[in-house]
Amino acid sequence: MTKLAVCPGSFDPITNGHLDIVRRGLCVFDKVIIAVGHNPLKPDLFTTEEKLEMIRKSVEGHPHISVDSFEGLLVNYIERIGACAILRGLRVISDFELELQLALMNRRLCDRIETFFLMTDFNNLFVSSTIIKATASAGGSVKGLVPEPVLEKLKEKFPSMSIQ
Ligand code: ADP
Repeated sequence: MTKLAVCPGSFDPITNGHLDIVRRGLCVFDKVIIAVGHNPLKPDLFTTEEKLEMIRKSVEGHPHISVDSFEGLLVNYIERIGACAILRGLRVISDFELELQLALMNRRLCDRIETFFLMTDFNNLFVSSTIIKATASAGGSVKGLVPEPVLEKLKEKFPSMSIQ
């Protein structure tokens, strides 16, 4: 049986931290779907279409990673596509509280789906979509922290951003 995991998030935009979690998830899962959802608590810079385009270009040609978006309850989406797991990343202790709440709520909503966490890599410990946007909008370089298609799109949004 194919073990399918969903890595959900707002991905506004996707970073090398997210991609690292997805790639490492493939040690355990046969396939990982990066699923763009809307987080009502976070204001978005990019539209869902822009996010999907950046992610698709970033994982182009990878046979075991696919890209999708969903609306409504994550567990309903996961059941509909026949996946069995949620894959999330953890950076610092402050991530833990929210991730625990989300995992427990998702489990309460559907106990056939398990949430799996991977610890971030040293290189991505301080990488978040929020800090990327804040740095890029102020003209700073985020090279090496996001995939190339994201760098290009950020440059479009923030022409003053350094690309060194
Ligand atoms: P959400 O709005 O649902 O938190 P995000 O796009 O911010 O969506 O994050 C999706 C997942 O990726 C979360 O589990 C988050 O903790 C994880 N993540 C984000 N940045 C990193 C990183 N640098 N290293 C590891 N995991 C990360």
